[in-house]
Amino acid sequence: MDNITMPVDLGKFAGVKDFLTQEELIKYKKTFSKTYKASQQKSKRTHCYYCNELCNSFCNSHTIPAFCLKYIATNGKLFHMNTMVDIPLLKKDKGVNEAGTFHIICRDCDSKIFQDYENENNYDKKPTTKMLAQIAMKNSLKLISKRELEDALYDEMTSKLGFPSSIGNFKHMVNEMDLKEYIFAYNKAKKSTLKPFDGDYYIYTYIELPYRIPIAFQGSVSLICDLEGKVINNIYNYNANYEIKNVHLCVFPFKSKSIILFFVENGNKRYSSFFKQFKKLSHKEQLKVVNYIIFAYTEDFFMSPELSEDTIAKLTKTACKSTDLVSLNPFTNGIDAATEHFSYTEMNSIPNILSEEYQIKEENDEV
Ligand SMILES: [Zn+2]
Repeated sequence: MDNITMPVDLGKFAGVKDFLTQEELIKYKKTFSKTYKASQQKSKRTHCYYCNELCNSFCNSHTIPAFCLKYIATNGKLFHMNTMVDIPLLKKDKGVNEAGTFHIICRDCDSKIFQDYENENNYDKKPTTKMLAQIAMKNSLKLISKRELEDALYDEMTSKLGFPSSIGNFKHMVNEMDLKEYIFAYNKAKKSTLKPFDGDYYIYTYIELPYRIPIAFQGSVSLICDLEGKVINNIYNYNANYEIKNVHLCVFPFKSKSIILFFVENGNKRYSSFFKQFKKLSHKEQLKVVNYIIFAYTEDFFMSPELSEDTIAKLTKTACKSTDLVSLNPFTNGIDAATEHFSYTEMNSIPNILSEEYQIKEENDEV
């Protein structure tokens, strides 16, 4: 259920400023920021998640490789979700250094364990199994860190802010199920980075574009439906035996090219019909689908501040989809409503910023 919540589930506060006065909003911000900091403190680890050594200062690990962010930043600044949705609790633009980061591994590990895939010179051909495993491992670490922080946040909100404990308990239960899956995926990925085997991961799509796109994303996504509207993941099935299956997605800009990569762990067959349908589409249509998935399903994407206000405005409704979903009541709306909510028809009416017309031209680079 990862990508349907904001970083630490702030999505539900997206509309908060519409019904609060300025004064109330300031008070709310202060209280929330205190609660948030307390949760961060509470969820803080003592040992590195990777090497298990005692660690005092955790690394500010980037989710998206720094080189990708560098190619789309202007004066070190990037646009992200909050630029569009205006969530009053988050800062409007983030510098490259604080963009989409997590803090559960030590600096030493961070500088070693992602080296292959974070090196931009390693993308002359399709990524190796080791690189895929490193990407999968980092995606899992990010999700584990997010869920641990959320867990602490629900406790704080219940005890300090009067958040209903029934919802808190329910969230804990769902979180626990998710965590189990993420830890399993993490262990598998870690093993594969150390001893990669050809079949550990399966690449469904690898697209190379001969220009630089104005957006970067890395994460694992749980798609709800395929292109024909059939369910891929029933996010409302809370049966302990039912697993949500993710697909890893990388959308990386380079100096004068970009790559789009979809891959899954060996044995994950949940996406076969989706990619069968995807492969029948034209190149242009495929890009529209990826563009739609980034905005509708994910929140940790970063964009060039050079995109026009008009373009950003046209993408905002789609970018709100994942936070809107939080307000759908899982007990009454169910999977049919979610399938309709994420229908791909909308992909035709939003700007496709992966298309050539939105490329960032090299001659505009700061020297
Ligand atoms: Zn470590």
